[in-house]
Amino acid sequence: MSLHTLTVCQLRDKIRTGEVSSREATQSLLNRIASVDGKVKAYNWLNADNALAQADAAKKGGVLAGVPVAIKDVINVDGQPCTCASKILQGYVAPYDATVIRKLREAGAILVGRTNMDEFAMGSSTENSSWGTTCNPWDLTRIPGGSSGGSAAAVAADEAFAALGSDTGGSIRQPAALCGCVGLKPTYGRVSRYGLVAFASSLDQIGSFTKDVRDAALLLSVISGHDPMDSTSVPRPVPDYVAALERGVKGLRIGLPKEYFIPGMDREVEAAVRAAIAKLVSLGAEVVEISLPHTDYAVAVYYLIATAEASANLARFDGVRYGARVKGEDVIDTYGKTRGSGFGPEVKRRIILGTYALSAGYYDAYYLRAQKVRTLIRQDFEKAFAKCDVIVTPTTPEVAFKAGEKSGDPLKMYLSDIFTISVNLAGNCGVSIPCGFAHKLPIGLQIIGKAFDEETVLRTAYAYEQATAWHKERPVL
Ligand code: GLN
Repeated sequence: MSLHTLTVCQLRDKIRTGEVSSREATQSLLNRIASVDGKVKAYNWLNADNALAQADAAKKGGVLAGVPVAIKDVINVDGQPCTCASKILQGYVAPYDATVIRKLREAGAILVGRTNMDEFAMGSSTENSSWGTTCNPWDLTRIPGGSSGGSAAAVAADEAFAALGSDTGGSIRQPAALCGCVGLKPTYGRVSRYGLVAFASSLDQIGSFTKDVRDAALLLSVISGHDPMDSTSVPRPVPDYVAALERGVKGLRIGLPKEYFIPGMDREVEAAVRAAIAKLVSLGAEVVEISLPHTDYAVAVYYLIATAEASANLARFDGVRYGARVKGEDVIDTYGKTRGSGFGPEVKRRIILGTYALSAGYYDAYYLRAQKVRTLIRQDFEKAFAKCDVIVTPTTPEVAFKAGEKSGDPLKMYLSDIFTISVNLAGNCGVSIPCGFAHKLPIGLQIIGKAFDEETVLRTAYAYEQATAWHKERPVL
């Protein structure tokens, strides 16, 4: 049997019993990458020799002992490049580990390589990468989603047992849906972002891509928890997420927001999601109709707040402190030349938009208003969760689109996240799990939970997964 097809839990158990070694598993994964990544292009950088050395040294006993994990190229790993898929960070080598990386190492994980993404996590297709586009393993002419497209494609193509990503407006759930894997965005504050290159600090959250829900629960148990290095991380105990899986969905109230079943969405996607809801009902859940009335404003609010925060966060890339420098006549000229040639067009568009929204004459009209509507969106969720335990929706209105189909039209691209963005604005948690196929491409089911209620989200996802086999389907490469 090919080891690279195993889940994290399966591999971990085989390593524990001594049936396989971490070196064998890592080698099998590297072979798989060598044979398919020329087509998929999920990785920006591989740690081949060092990964085998890490495998040999992997300490016994940790919950991930000897298991290789891939990391989105936006999270710092000591001694490895961290480019955020931007030319401006070419040559930058991280001098420290992000907190999630430290936790992975403590659990015994092997850091095998860095996955492709949209530049600075801005995008929904992984086309905005200075490394080139990643392909969807189910159809190489299509995009894998974004911005964590490399992580999603790697897991879907069995080029990674699991991967970390970041989700600011949907960047874990949307690519997980389009590639047919499990993508979990934890609650804002659940996982430390120390060492994650910031895009929009009030929205960013680190999470996982896995082949099944059990692995998602396991990884969350490893990476969660309070961290004094991230003042937004919350000092709450970390539950045993794996143990929570088995509780089932009997009596669970599932909220269906009427605003998420919209005309214009792919009929086959809608049919698959409705069938998934019926499956949950057959397992004992109850359906309640709910309303999230401010949903229509979410994309606009997001593109004001996220760009405003990005314009401030990206000011640090000035050619002095990090990465590439294009020398000008004086310091101002150097800033301009470095940023002018280092950032790609989408990043520039966002910096300009964000600077505009924050500028003196427009602050009240745009930024301040967006913050007020954000509060209304958060209240929508609070009210809805008085009536239900989880909210179930499609993750995306359609399946993976063709490369190039939306890259010329930013507004069309922005609408890819219409069902995921509100969750970041409200700060809740959400997961996308496979729930079928349309036009031979994977469909994602989104399960949204209350803040810090990942347990209920994961057990709902697990109950569905146990009763279906979608997660076992694999693309032929
Ligand atoms: N696609 C959204 C954007 O372009 C979300 C990105 C993300 O979650 N990082 O901003």
